[in-house]
Amino acid sequence: MPGFEYFGAAERKSAGEVLETGVLMRYGFDGMRNGRWMAKEMEHALAKRMQTRYAHLVSSGTAALTVALASAGVGAGDEVIVPTFTFVASFEAVLSVGAIPVLCDIDDTLTLKPDAVLKAITPKTRVIMPVHMCGSMADLSALKQIAEAHDLILLEDACQAIGGSYKGQPLGSIGHMGCFSFDYVKTITCGEGGGLITNSETVYQKAHAFSDHGHDHIGTDRGAEGHPHLGYNYRIGEVNAAIGLVQLSRLDEFLAIQKTHYTRLRNSLDGISGITFRKVPEGGVENYSFLNFFMPDEASARKASKALGEAGFDGVFYWYDNNWHYHRKWEHLHQLKSLSSLPEELRTQFERRYPQSFEVSDHWMGRNLSVLIKLSWDETELESRCRTLSDVISKVLA
Ligand SMILES: *Cc1c(COP(=O)(O)O)cnc(C)c1O
Repeated sequence: MPGFEYFGAAERKSAGEVLETGVLMRYGFDGMRNGRWMAKEMEHALAKRMQTRYAHLVSSGTAALTVALASAGVGAGDEVIVPTFTFVASFEAVLSVGAIPVLCDIDDTLTLKPDAVLKAITPKTRVIMPVHMCGSMADLSALKQIAEAHDLILLEDACQAIGGSYKGQPLGSIGHMGCFSFDYVKTITCGEGGGLITNSETVYQKAHAFSDHGHDHIGTDRGAEGHPHLGYNYRIGEVNAAIGLVQLSRLDEFLAIQKTHYTRLRNSLDGISGITFRKVPEGGVENYSFLNFFMPDEASARKASKALGEAGFDGVFYWYDNNWHYHRKWEHLHQLKSLSSLPEELRTQFERRYPQSFEVSDHWMGRNLSVLIKLSWDETELESRCRTLSDVISKVLA
């Protein structure tokens, strides 16, 4: 997955152009910037690649989710349905706008289970947020249908699946809004950065203003700009965008390498009975950032994870025990441990909606192993990984 593996001369040159002029900010300073508007250029390129009318860059993927929610008018009392398997950013963004994250079961797609989503809907629900974890997607047709039937916003977190597609459309472009992360370990990186895509003019106008203190960005004098509403600062800087612009131009090159590496590893598991692969919904194309499969039960998954580590196979994740990605270890969320007191209504509504068990999620996640696909493996390394993976898994299942 990591674009940082291929950080090179082109990225350095692009960042150097910004350092040359010294205009590190994305807005203003028209005369000094030598005609380069790195953030704007990357936004145009991102909208084009994702086939949406608009793209707006911000300082992180978490910021992109926050700005998306705020721009859709999501706030106090509103409920946002998020999966039990995700990154902590999902509920952080929801809480940051004063809304309630409502955890919901996943299925063998490793993201939202449509009939569990249906059950989680209340009159307070505003958003369904599928998170396309580990390179593949939710059953977007089913979720879209639910969203339409209940008049809800579909917000795709495509931070881990940039470049994947569903029925011919890029992931992120299918819901009302889609978000990407360009942090250091994502498929393409800005160092730190994030992006929001949408076809809605209204959402876009609110998003660029909200992420820059409410500035309307009309005219060429920042001091004279209007503030149609309150905002915050989630701006991206020009150096970050300059790097991302180059990385984005290499996205398809990275995806092709990931696909080759993924396919070889997957083929090495062919014919081993007892394992099954993560379900990719019909019409879906992964971005191949991870290879995900299920062992027959929790004990064999733990055993395989340990044995792979001992065999020197790094980059295998057993998310079931992971602090960042799975609900079981989110004690700070379970107990709403916030630095300062939260609004009483938020706490009450959260507590009312929260305590539940997630047996279906546990069933899948307890058996899941996730192999990170790297770009930098050469033929020798790839060959040796294929052999180790198939040997270890066969042995564990013997
Ligand atoms: C990385 C990630 C984010 C947040 O991105 P940052 O840029 O690190 O803030 C959000 N959601 C998912 C699924 C992610 O993997």
